[in-house]
Amino acid sequence: MKTVMRAAVLRKFNEPLQIEEKPVPVPGPGEVLVKVRASGLCVSDLHIQDGKIATVKLPYTPGHEMAGVIAAVGEGVSPDRVGEHISAAIDIICGECEFCRTGRTNLCRELVRIGFERDGSHEEYCVIPAKNAFPVNKDIPFEQITGIPDAVGCMYNGLKNQAKLRAGQTLLIMGVGGLGMNAIQLGKLMGATVFATSRKADKLETAREMGADEVIDTSREDLQKRVRELTGGRGVDVALDNIGLEWSINEGVSMVRPGGRVLVCGYISEEFRVNYQEVMKFEKEILGMRGMTRQDMAEVIELVNSKKIVPYVYKTVPFEEINGALGLLRGGGTKGRVVLQFPEE
Ligand SMILES: [Zn+2]
Ligand SMILES: [Zn+2]
Repeated sequence: MKTVMRAAVLRKFNEPLQIEEKPVPVPGPGEVLVKVRASGLCVSDLHIQDGKIATVKLPYTPGHEMAGVIAAVGEGVSPDRVGEHISAAIDIICGECEFCRTGRTNLCRELVRIGFERDGSHEEYCVIPAKNAFPVNKDIPFEQITGIPDAVGCMYNGLKNQAKLRAGQTLLIMGVGGLGMNAIQLGKLMGATVFATSRKADKLETAREMGADEVIDTSREDLQKRVRELTGGRGVDVALDNIGLEWSINEGVSMVRPGGRVLVCGYISEEFRVNYQEVMKFEKEILGMRGMTRQDMAEVIELVNSKKIVPYVYKTVPFEEINGALGLLRGGGTKGRVVLQFPEE
């Protein structure tokens, strides 16, 4: 096996990543070595590059949407696991805090995240705890597997656990993109009627292909008016805000029915003002969401294995082109996930 690998290293904030040679890491007790085959790019990678995530320490290798094959195992891990195709749960958890003990592992007090506080998957080999490596069926393409822990997973947590979306309800997805395309599929699977918004015609076309019942082009249509029309003046049950700006959150609040829920997912504005009378008088809820639990991870893998959910991948590019791909993401010219691909050897 190789002893030297290529890795994309972030040495300075606000600068491109550098492709460097690093020794292939050795798995310690309870760990596995993953031969990375695909690694998804996320808006968080831009926030990391911009120095906006305080827990990131340089130099290091980002990448938290990992898909690969177990190449070696450390002490205490069954050698039978070598060869497994895996998706990596992003959160490394303590297993003992009040949140881990009660199943809300995404809120673990000792949380360390792969690709944030330690090296991630924008490199040829990555060591992770064996407990974070979840097997996935071998007929699922690696680029789709990258969608499991974040692009699909966090939408699953948000819609299921936080918004408590039910069959027969209406879901409005504001700003469909990398996450929203998967949220459409999940919303339909959960039995909801799904409306999707974007200012870009090509995104709306894909949103339809993903199963959206109605799409709203906000570059030329009045969103509030359309939502009133579509719901007979009632408002939607759940608004999922993937934009994350003060105006979008407020639009969400005004478009949900009394007692409705606004799920805040995007994060761009540091703070936002909201019409609290609207929230108070109509018992509306504004809900946060972060990542997914271990339970969600297992459920999402089942949905992907059974092909009930096909994680949406906009484009794949060779690993070496990471900086160009990040630039594409930054420019907003992507309809969904851009995924780095690595050769088999
Ligand atoms: Zn992410
Ligand atoms: Zn914990």
